[in-house]
Amino acid sequence: MSPALSDSPQLIDRFGRKITYVRFSVTDRCDLRCVYCMAEDMTFVPREQLLTLEELARLGQAFVALGVHKIRITGGEPLVRRNVVWLFEQLGQLPGLRDLTLTTNGTQLARHARALKAAGVTRINISLDTLDPERFRRLTRLGDIRKVLAGIEAALEAGFERIKLNAVILRNRNHDEVLALTHFAHERGMDISFIEEMPLGVIGDHDRAEAYYSSDQILADLQQALKLVPVADNTGGPSRYYRRTDGTGRVGFISPHSHNFCDTCNRVRVTAEGRLLLCLGQEHSMDLRRILRGYPTEPARLREALLQSMDLKPQGHEFQLAAQPVIFRHMSVTGG
Ligand code: SAM
Ligand code: SF4
Repeated sequence: MSPALSDSPQLIDRFGRKITYVRFSVTDRCDLRCVYCMAEDMTFVPREQLLTLEELARLGQAFVALGVHKIRITGGEPLVRRNVVWLFEQLGQLPGLRDLTLTTNGTQLARHARALKAAGVTRINISLDTLDPERFRRLTRLGDIRKVLAGIEAALEAGFERIKLNAVILRNRNHDEVLALTHFAHERGMDISFIEEMPLGVIGDHDRAEAYYSSDQILADLQQALKLVPVADNTGGPSRYYRRTDGTGRVGFISPHSHNFCDTCNRVRVTAEGRLLLCLGQEHSMDLRRILRGYPTEPARLREALLQSMDLKPQGHEFQLAAQPVIFRHMSVTGG
């Protein structure tokens, strides 16, 4: 990092946590309807209310100037946004940005993987909850698993390293597949993380408390077949990692219920409409679109707003499975 950058103001909240990681949701739309994420019939944000790609590029520049060194692009499904590769190209050129990452359902990766690699994307997370085509269709309501498998192959061929699979595990839906998914990932040189379902948005499809399958339970299931030891690796995310003693790969656990990760939180999120969310599980936010649109030629305004937003970041989230109210945003709006 250049001396000029390290001397500039940084994003530090009231609890002394330094924000170095931002996630941008670039669209709330998606070509799938995963049962834990979306309702079957969704109303999406009108297009003119979404941040433009140019606004997102400006925002990325402002965050990086304030010490952010990792940006993850997510959604909705980021690769359904038209011309989104242009945004990756802009962000990929920002001096000071070390990690430009993508979370995708993989359906469009076959056509975009090479361009993303060329744009400077450093790592990709691909979501896949099952290896069974029929189950995949039921879990995503309309998905074709072959597209995702082709996307995974394309990402591997494009030369991405440390690709990670993300699997949300639900009791009686796919909890019996944790070992098969782990083998599938490790045989291809990928890592895998298992995610506990978070109560985001009303989806009307299943009872969340009933479907809950804890990370500890998944770990116990895996340990029946695999030797796993905890590792201290910190990828700047909330995953706790284990590695296989035979050296073939890692398994991560993202566990908002059973293991609180707020103390070391280093991140904020921006919704597709430009709302800065200071915490995944709380509503504290700031409208950045107003500033981006109101003062397009005054980057100092945006920088000031980002610095001020640090006073709004709450100490932690308060997810509870059975208790009301849940957070009414869907994950596709928040940017998972
Ligand atoms: N469409 C992309 C994808 O599926 O990877 C990116 C957005 S998606 C919202 C990001 C991640 O959030 C996915 O791995 C998805 O499985 C996960 N997710 C969605 N809803 C969730 C929920 N209610 N609880 C936990 N994880 C969830
Ligand atoms: Fe779409 Fe990703 Fe949500 Fe599934 S998890 S509906 S792929 S945004």
